[in-house]
Amino acid sequence: MKGVFRTRALVLRSTDFSETSQVIRVFTRDQGILDMLAKGSRRPARASSAFPSPFDLAGWYDLNYRARGTDLHLATEAQLVEGFDHLRRDLPSWLDATFVLDVLRNFFSPGDPHPDLLREVLQYLKLLEHGQGRRRLRNRFLQSALHAGGVLPRWDCCSECEREIDTGAYLGIPSGLICSFCAGSTEGQFIDPRVRAYLAADSGREWGLVPSWEVPPREVDAAWNLLKSLLLHHLERPPRSLRYLRV
Ligand SMILES: [Zn+2]
Repeated sequence: MKGVFRTRALVLRSTDFSETSQVIRVFTRDQGILDMLAKGSRRPARASSAFPSPFDLAGWYDLNYRARGTDLHLATEAQLVEGFDHLRRDLPSWLDATFVLDVLRNFFSPGDPHPDLLREVLQYLKLLEHGQGRRRLRNRFLQSALHAGGVLPRWDCCSECEREIDTGAYLGIPSGLICSFCAGSTEGQFIDPRVRAYLAADSGREWGLVPSWEVPPREVDAAWNLLKSLLLHHLERPPRSLRYLRV
């Protein structure tokens, strides 16, 4: 992949590089995760500048870049499309946002685009503005991320006998849900039927409906713990932001 490209991208990480430049890791709509050097992006903004301001974490940018034969491409021009300023004004929302960036950075490989997931992430970051239903939104995001990574279990049928599950079930990681008939010989974590029903309903739910959805907090918690253990199984180490998500 060589040449000049134009895309949109979410900034997952930015590191200052020299007095004037930054190295950024972005999730681009077209190529997935890419690393770029942005020469001059830390300089004070000028109207004519290729970078009106330094790259911000969780910023959504129109981005031009020159692909090089190496892993580090060259950002040549950027324009902020959406800065999600509300995230920077509210610590709990910001912690949720950094968790999202962490998951995207650690769970997906460079060059593996997920435009649908990216669209959902933008919706999620936007919805954090209202400060309502943060834990349900977080569960919704993890389901989408696990789904995009191809490791989200089906919540409605047994992964062994493929029969529909209508009572309690067990979660075997990574195999998936196991019905009580098949569970005899398998180790797994019991899932309360109400939690399973919530997860099944949640996985395809429209994002805009999640914040006002009334789900008992205990079920939201139990679902979070299940989704978290699924995620951790597929990561080499837990995302650093996870330890801050206590509330
Ligand atoms: Zn079964």
